[in-house]
Amino acid sequence: MTAKIIDGKAFAARIRGEVAHHVARLKADHGLTPGLAVVLVGEDPASEVYVGHKRKATVEAGMTSFEHRLPAETSEAELFSLIDRLNADPAVHGILCQFPVPAHLDERRTVARIDPAKDVDGLSVTNAGLLATGGDALVSCTPLGCLMLLRDQMGDLTGREAVVIGRSNLFGKPMAQLLLRENCTVTMAHSRTADLPDVCRRADILVAAVGRAEMVQGDWVKPGATVIDVGITRVPHPDRPGKTKLLGDCDFDSCAAVAGAITPVPGGVGPMTIACLLANTVTAACRATGLDAPAGLTA
Ligand code: NAP
Repeated sequence: MTAKIIDGKAFAARIRGEVAHHVARLKADHGLTPGLAVVLVGEDPASEVYVGHKRKATVEAGMTSFEHRLPAETSEAELFSLIDRLNADPAVHGILCQFPVPAHLDERRTVARIDPAKDVDGLSVTNAGLLATGGDALVSCTPLGCLMLLRDQMGDLTGREAVVIGRSNLFGKPMAQLLLRENCTVTMAHSRTADLPDVCRRADILVAAVGRAEMVQGDWVKPGATVIDVGITRVPHPDRPGKTKLLGDCDFDSCAAVAGAITPVPGGVGPMTIACLLANTVTAACRATGLDAPAGLTA
């Protein structure tokens, strides 16, 4: 079998188009412009790039982008004072603090300071708890994006065997909760899982979020399975000295020879993350004003 390559870039563009459509309707019908505030502490070059991409996508979708750049030596009290102001600002519906923050700041305490109703990264204990207990959570963007891809590919996921490799708070745990909500039978695998290849071979849906390049081999994949490769590892480019390339957690060629469908790296899951950040901002704006969030943009 040769797998269908899931075009995450094209699907993310579709979601961003849907977001823009809903933003235009919210403006026209309710005078509501969703606003996303991004806080960047320090000058991490990769973070600067991510924040730039987020600003561009936010503006392109017709939303308001608020950007707050703080010096690396910003104290926790100063950061929290800004977050408190954003929490209280009715024009701000989503707040995202770009991580990593400098070492003297604590990521957990920072996330906890953000109003859960504006926590568009879905990282707060409140949103994790709402997701686990079937409430209206704001869901972490990358797992939400994977769920959207899976629904688009497979339709109803009920009864499918799903294996998620990785149990981080950022990805693995919310991904497993989302699949459980879709009535999958979910196995969470991790570094202590016994006979991981054998566990993976039972999966109709195999999601790998480990960060170990090309770990998942074709003979770990059940024929016809849908493989979602979340991992990103930057390695030296084999043919272009001084350049790098990205590798996923799955050995693409051997997995694609067995799977029914597979996401490539890059161009699979990656583009979905910003699309879902925009979707979450629309969801937060709708909920803040007592409107129903658009069904296609939520879990
Ligand atoms: P993480 O916090 O480092 O978690 C990695 C997980 O992988 C842990 O649960 C770990 O198990 C498990 N693991 C490590 N070695 C393993 C092994 N040999 N066999 C099985 N499981 C193993 O990473 P993360 O934040 O979840 O991210 C995972 C990957 O996804 C990274 O490459 C990251 O860059 C990528 N990612 C991409 C996006 C995106 O595309 N936008 C977003 C998020 C993450 P233990 O818990 O037992 O240690």
